[in-house]
Amino acid sequence: MIRLLLLAPPGGGKGTQGRVLAEEHGVPHISTGELLRDHVTRSTPLGRRVRPYLERGDLIPDHLVLRLVQERLGTPGVLEGFVLDGFPRTLDQALAAYAWATEHNLTFSAVVHLTVPEAELVRRLLDRGRATGRSDDTADTIRHRLAQYRASTDPLLDFYRERQILVDVDGDGPIPEVAARIRTALEARGLAPANKRAGPG
Ligand code: AMP
Repeated sequence: MIRLLLLAPPGGGKGTQGRVLAEEHGVPHISTGELLRDHVTRSTPLGRRVRPYLERGDLIPDHLVLRLVQERLGTPGVLEGFVLDGFPRTLDQALAAYAWATEHNLTFSAVVHLTVPEAELVRRLLDRGRATGRSDDTADTIRHRLAQYRASTDPLLDFYRERQILVDVDGDGPIPEVAARIRTALEARGLAPANKRAGPG
């Protein structure tokens, strides 16, 4: 089964494409942003702790997000296949993810990296803010999140490129087109969904 990481700037389509990919491959879609927002909504101790970070558009501390991810990946069956969206976001998180994977004797199949021009990202996020009222989709916070993405996440690209699992995909365009590009890029690496793989003979 496939174990995918999804890397994209805020507004880059991680959530949307993550759900499509998870459905196609029949694996759970795990979004750290969604898990965190759920904790905030339920006002759990973690939710109360991370709420100010989310509202400012700051990354939450590595140890908190690591605990959350390890808990979720520790759920029975999940280790076999998943689409992980929004994690890792820093080089330290990537190193921890690598150590964790080694410990569990598994590898990540690929890291899908969606690229979208900055003006388009801002447009999408402002639209989403208007449509959903998501509290971190405001002009100032958007700028901050994009700057932070470039600073924290860019080094991850080199990390995964060196390991030859980075798959760059143009994320600018209609949702089905981007989904098709991702599918083609993964198929080229032998990562088609199990039901679409050529059978023996
Ligand atoms: P997202 O839904 O992926 O855009 O994430 C929303 C917010 O959740 C981010 O702006 C961060 O505050 C927080 N967050 C999500 N994933 C992580 C992560 N891997 N590390 C740190 N903070 C995160």
